[in-house]
Amino acid sequence: LPSRHEPGVYNVWIEFSQLAVTTKCLNLGQGFPDYDPPSIFSNFLSEVATEKNSYFNQYTRGFGHMRLVRALSNLYSQLINRKIDPVNEILVTVGAYEALYCAIQSNIEEGDEAIIIEPFYDCYEPIVRTAGGVPRFIPLRNTKPNASLPKANDWKLDPEELASLFNSKTKLIIINTPHNPLGKVFDYDELTMIANLAKKHNVLVISDEVYEWLVYEPAKHIRMATLPDMWERTITIGSAGKTFSMTGWKLGWAYGPANFIQNMCVVHQTAIYTCATTVQEATARGFEHEINALNTPQSYFQSMSKELKPKMQYLFKTLQDNGLKPIMPDGGYFMISNWTNFENKLDLSSETDKYKDFRFVKWLSKNVKLQGIPFSAFYSEPHKNMAEDYLRFCFFKKDETLKKAEEILTTWT
Ligand code: PMP
Ligand code: GLN
Repeated sequence: LPSRHEPGVYNVWIEFSQLAVTTKCLNLGQGFPDYDPPSIFSNFLSEVATEKNSYFNQYTRGFGHMRLVRALSNLYSQLINRKIDPVNEILVTVGAYEALYCAIQSNIEEGDEAIIIEPFYDCYEPIVRTAGGVPRFIPLRNTKPNASLPKANDWKLDPEELASLFNSKTKLIIINTPHNPLGKVFDYDELTMIANLAKKHNVLVISDEVYEWLVYEPAKHIRMATLPDMWERTITIGSAGKTFSMTGWKLGWAYGPANFIQNMCVVHQTAIYTCATTVQEATARGFEHEINALNTPQSYFQSMSKELKPKMQYLFKTLQDNGLKPIMPDGGYFMISNWTNFENKLDLSSETDKYKDFRFVKWLSKNVKLQGIPFSAFYSEPHKNMAEDYLRFCFFKKDETLKKAEEILTTWT
């Protein structure tokens, strides 16, 4: 058996979800809502599973149930202002994870390079390596470290540093907007800078947009595929788990030009063949409902950020009042927080991890009964030391849960 601590074997979600259970702490670690999604969406699933003579409990089309790919085409054609072919330009996958896996596997060959922006959603690196690729990392840098109101959007790429990573081996760059774990929403100029480099060097962009509906005004989500001449070189990835706040549904998709999608289909048909029909049919009905509700007060997609913004602000204030300096996100459902005020006051020697944010987060789970995720989990090994001053919290939680977090922190500090 491989050691669980070897790079590529270690998985932060496995370790910290287990720790949340064994320590019985308040879990603001792994990202998931701790309350029910709107019942209209979950009711679709119970309807679908019990409909007579519907065949929804049997296999469906391998690359995506027809009603779902039609709904995805209908929605995203409007959003990107281009007709998306439901049969050739969309693939339905087991969560955004599988879409990322197929996109990377089908484009990377031994020795090809993939540019990954740090911090990054942790699975990008092992997927690139499994495909035989070489990840090239570039960190977002905090351009205003002394700001009185630290913001995720102050973390920027250095355009020259990014340009220096492109070479004849560069096959793709992965971007994530809105961003996990930082909460950054890339603006038009930042996306244009990345797009221009991708075009100049003939590179594919994989755009992970799973939090596309979770953007806090005035920030706006811009889809990479809508930038000039970017449709041809962009695979965009989404997730029903994030879109409908039901992470357990594990359904995702990719849309993009037929040549990329069809290569992804080859990976998908070998490993997965087809996703659960019931979940696809229920998701299709969810999308149809939402397409009709767009731009009305009934739109769940458009109300989500209004529901989450007060939660974000509440957690921000709680962390700030307790000396954990948070960074204000513009999107997503996470925020990072600087914990170094406590560094010299705590004895973390009971923990043996290499990086101090891991030692702190474990100590906090066990002794204070509150869990976050160490920020260095989202960095490559050589750059983890850039991240050790922070931890990540999830704020997609019941108001009572956030209040409990406040009580825990106030009692502790
Ligand atoms: N990308 C990002 C940025 C994520 O935060 C997640 C987390 N769920 C995923 C991809 C994977 O999504 P899914 O659960 O749909 O596989
Ligand atoms: N995407 C979720 C997060 O960032 C968790 C995903 C997982 O458990 N693998 O917290």
